[in-house]
Amino acid sequence: MESRIAQELRVASGVCSRCSRIIEPGGLFYSLLIKVSSDFDGVIKIEDKEYDMSREFEKVKSYPEELINEEVYREFRFVLCPRCKEIYCANPLNLPLDTPDKNAG
Ligand SMILES: [Zn+2]
Repeated sequence: MESRIAQELRVASGVCSRCSRIIEPGGLFYSLLIKVSSDFDGVIKIEDKEYDMSREFEKVKSYPEELINEEVYREFRFVLCPRCKEIYCANPLNLPLDTPDKNAG
């Protein structure tokens, strides 16, 4: 995976993150910011009766902070040329296009 610094450099140098096309000075381009954060529906499922909250907490504390942060929140920044922006917006999650539309009919 591309490092954050490499991503930032791409943003600064005006190159499309997807197709590597150079975006001319003054040219049209799009910024894509993807934020992925953990969410919580308020339900705590503890199926294991032996579940020890403090032990789990100690376990999490032993993980590197960076790893925990990445588990909770990640951010991606990209620059897209107009063509790649259209392609991205048409299917942001890259879902298979050959599936019949369940809502049709
Ligand atoms: Zn592009």
